[in-house]
Amino acid sequence: MVPPIVFWFRRDLRCRDQPALARAITDARANGAEIAALFVLDSRLLRTTGSNRTWLTLESVRALRSSGIPVFVRSGKPESAVTEFARSIGSPDVRASDDFTPYGRQRDLRVSQALAATGSTLALEDGPYVVTPGTVRKQDDTPFKVFTPFNRVWAIAASGITPSLSVDPRSTPWLRMDQSESFDAPFKPSAIVCPEPTEEAANELLKQFVENRLETYDSERDRPDLDASSRLSPYLKVGLIHPRTVLAAVDASAAASTNGARIFRNEICWREFYADVLFHRPDSRVADFAQSMETMSYDTGPLADERFEAWASGRTGYPFIDAGMRQLRTEGWMHNRVRMAAASFLVKDLHVDWRRGAKHFLDHLFDGDIASNQHGWQWTAGTGTDAAPYFRIFNPVSQGLRFDPQGTYVRRYVSELADVGKNVHEPWLSDAVGSLFGQLGTYPSPIVLHAEERDEALRRYRETRPA
Ligand code: FAD
Repeated sequence: MVPPIVFWFRRDLRCRDQPALARAITDARANGAEIAALFVLDSRLLRTTGSNRTWLTLESVRALRSSGIPVFVRSGKPESAVTEFARSIGSPDVRASDDFTPYGRQRDLRVSQALAATGSTLALEDGPYVVTPGTVRKQDDTPFKVFTPFNRVWAIAASGITPSLSVDPRSTPWLRMDQSESFDAPFKPSAIVCPEPTEEAANELLKQFVENRLETYDSERDRPDLDASSRLSPYLKVGLIHPRTVLAAVDASAAASTNGARIFRNEICWREFYADVLFHRPDSRVADFAQSMETMSYDTGPLADERFEAWASGRTGYPFIDAGMRQLRTEGWMHNRVRMAAASFLVKDLHVDWRRGAKHFLDHLFDGDIASNQHGWQWTAGTGTDAAPYFRIFNPVSQGLRFDPQGTYVRRYVSELADVGKNVHEPWLSDAVGSLFGQLGTYPSPIVLHAEERDEALRRYRETRPA
């Protein structure tokens, strides 16, 4: 009997545009073998991943099963779980889509070694990016540290790449056995509003975005009050959709040559740029990318803890920031403009270490991604891949006035301010709110004064510079 091929699903929980799985199926058919689909509930990841992301991953596996793929679920450390599974079905051949995070690379090395000890192999291909991290390089073969030149080279590498083969689960020779180890126990997300965890939902979202919002993406993407961005990030995170599919839909659309499409492609490239940066500097997951910023002083202790809690629970007294932090709690997602403003506020107004804020985001975001999140935080904190960024201190009031001009976004998430009129971004100016504070006492006064804290942030920054 021909031994089966194991296909190990990780960040690629889909059938469309799925080259690694398509190749495994082609090889299996050619040899008259079966495919054993596997997902491992990685005990290390389960300990450190936020409940929203875990929920999305598990529901996506469940959706794969509903689509007709009999996915075996095993728990434990992947090096034991994968090896034991392959051994139990007599398979010497394990396949998967590649992963480029520091953890993923170490895990795959461990799994490869454990499989090799039993005479089996792990073959990896493709991965969650259009262009493989580590392959876009300068002429002198060193990695890029700045986005714009990276984008130029990446755009050439990415052009003309078309979606790969999709898999029809119904006509695939799956290995079927008693699905003894299951994961039927319900797993609760902390968010109240969750993305629909299927690849059909991801593709429908893409279709709607390309048809209705791509053309105006350049002018509206910074407006959290408008539903202007794609909201594809959670789907990209767990691989319910591949960025190749996304770019192909953009290129094939009526808006392909608009500025909206150009800016949107750039945003996809930011995702790939940060994956590339992390690939070359795995330490930047926790270390400052700009080593000159390592001496920056941050506050710790009871007052810093209290301020961090106010920030995390959306009670800083700055409506735009609070709306974002409450959106994060409710939806496990936050608009990009507000992510930047909220991150800046924590680091430069409250002087709390960016790593603490980054962890909070990862704990709550459905799209929580070690490369995009840590480097998005570092960009905002002024410790990342940018030339002179520290002076970019976001004013929490003017950001709101500019990007949420009618206060619609704030009113949506900060119910205490639902009835405040024109001063919704500066409620302390409003007589009505004066009485609102007095009567209800629910919405806090600003916990710090932005102008003072801005000066303090710049003072601390000067201290990191050599005299
Ligand atoms: P769209 O505007 O529709 O963009 C399309 C896609 O491009 C996104 O889905 C995403 O994959 C990618 N993208 C867009 N902007 C960026 C960016 N600045 N950096 C990297 N990729 C981008 N994105 C994550 O996917 N996971 C994170 O954990 C994450 N953490 C962040 C933390 C901070 C402090 C900041 C400032 C940004 C972070 N981002 C993160 C980037 C960005 O905020 C989100 O990708 C975006 O808001 C997702 O919404 P969307 O899908 O509607 O984006």
